Amino acid sequence: MPGEKVMVSCLECGTTNYFPLEAEGKKVVCGRCKAGLPLPGAVLEPTSGQAAQLFQNSSLPVLADFFSPTFVIVRKGAIRDRVSGAMNEENFALWVASRT
Ligand SMILES: [Zn+2]
Repeated sequence: MPGEKVMVSCLECGTTNYFPLEAEGKKVVCGRCKAGLPLPGAVLEPTSGQAAQLFQNSSLPVLADFFSPTFVIVRKGAIRDRVSGAMNEENFALWVASRT
């Protein structure tokens, strides 16, 4: 739909920006630091510094996978919940939805 936007957090500074969906495929930059924004829904592999920026500054909940598998949901700098161990896709989606 023309004019439709979604919110995306900047990997460099953590600021949450509106991302116009019709711009997908083009470079969209952060309004604060002018870094290129990730595509909506993209899986990111941030450095520890970038992860810290996202955890602290994003107004969106951040789901982090720490590979063990341990998943953590962070919102506005605070851990909302964490879970370790295997979980089927349906239960994982329910867990994420209930905590964001
Ligand atoms: Zn930025």
